[in-house]
Amino acid sequence: MAGKRDFYEVLGVKRDATQEEIKKAYRQMARKYHPDVNKEDPNAAEKFKEINEAYEVLSDPQKRAAYDRLGHDAFEQARTGGAGGFGGFGGFGGFEDLGGFGDIFDMFFGSGVGGARRRRTGPQRGADREVILEIDLEDAVFGAEKEIEISRLEKCERCDGTGAEPGSGVKTCPTCHGHGQVRNVQTTPFGRFETIRTCSRCQGEGKIIEKPCTACKGNGKVRKSRRINIRIPAGIDSGSRLRIQGEGEMGIRGGPPGDLYINIIIKPHPKFERDGYDLYSEEEISFVKAALGGEVEIELPGGEIYVLRIPEGTQPGDVIKVKGKGMTYLNSQRRGDLNVIIKVKIPTKLTKKQRELLEKFYEEETGEEKPKKGFFEKFKDAMG
Ligand SMILES: [Zn+2]
Ligand SMILES: [Zn+2]
Repeated sequence: MAGKRDFYEVLGVKRDATQEEIKKAYRQMARKYHPDVNKEDPNAAEKFKEINEAYEVLSDPQKRAAYDRLGHDAFEQARTGGAGGFGGFGGFGGFEDLGGFGDIFDMFFGSGVGGARRRRTGPQRGADREVILEIDLEDAVFGAEKEIEISRLEKCERCDGTGAEPGSGVKTCPTCHGHGQVRNVQTTPFGRFETIRTCSRCQGEGKIIEKPCTACKGNGKVRKSRRINIRIPAGIDSGSRLRIQGEGEMGIRGGPPGDLYINIIIKPHPKFERDGYDLYSEEEISFVKAALGGEVEIELPGGEIYVLRIPEGTQPGDVIKVKGKGMTYLNSQRRGDLNVIIKVKIPTKLTKKQRELLEKFYEEETGEEKPKKGFFEKFKDAMG
């Protein structure tokens, strides 16, 4: 990636900035460019990603030291090897691939690149998780608190994450004798080759457990379900992602947990249809009300009853606007409009009185003699 900006420049801090200053600068920038907040700047998502990337490195003393020494090269080299981000989910598709950063670092410092033979024993950040949350249109209009239940791998309490059955110990790996690596010598027509690989029995740890924990089968982790409260901000849109820090998978060897991403989908509403910030609904009124004007009670999003005024001479398909009763703008009190599309109902049955009145109306309007039979009777006669 050529032309990548300097991480210090991205966060607007000096090269000798303290961790506290970096954190502060990051918070300010992240708030400014968070794609939920910044709708004006078309590059907000890209900038937000850049800020997060810079912070991911500069907030970690080990990564920061590597960056100071080698610059972006350190990371690009490794980046090509891995880091397939998740599939995009609409929305801002930005910062998802940060979840893979831990692995990239492992590749670089681990045994993969440049013959470095460091064991993978450092703490690792847990994986990010993604879930989809369907919400009602009203939740998007007014905001909501939702409780979701997700399961994730957490430290096994029985063995305190060691994977060893309580009372049993940990012993030196007999395959690699505690080195974590296995030396393999191959003789070929071209000579003797010696390769050193991570021990597969102990995964490079050098130690194995004597008796696996019965609760987690030696994994040190168990899947537990937990409830999380999520605040849905008013004005959220389908395709938005909420990030809940620290609610992803647990970290490895004491590393921090990953994050949880919640993809929001607004369920279709039986009555209201969306077009941007405006809502559309249909309302059926009698033809008399359409002609003479009047009032009709309608239900607004959230269930509030509203008296809609029908002007005289309203035509089928006319739209009556109810200002400020549409979708909510994010981080604003402002709302779009509700547009009520008028449908006019023609009666299929008339009382005797109604028929007489309409026949009078017919004569008045056409100047012709009143018909012998009503239209519907004639129609029925014609059909046999
Ligand atoms: Zn266990
Ligand atoms: Zn071993």
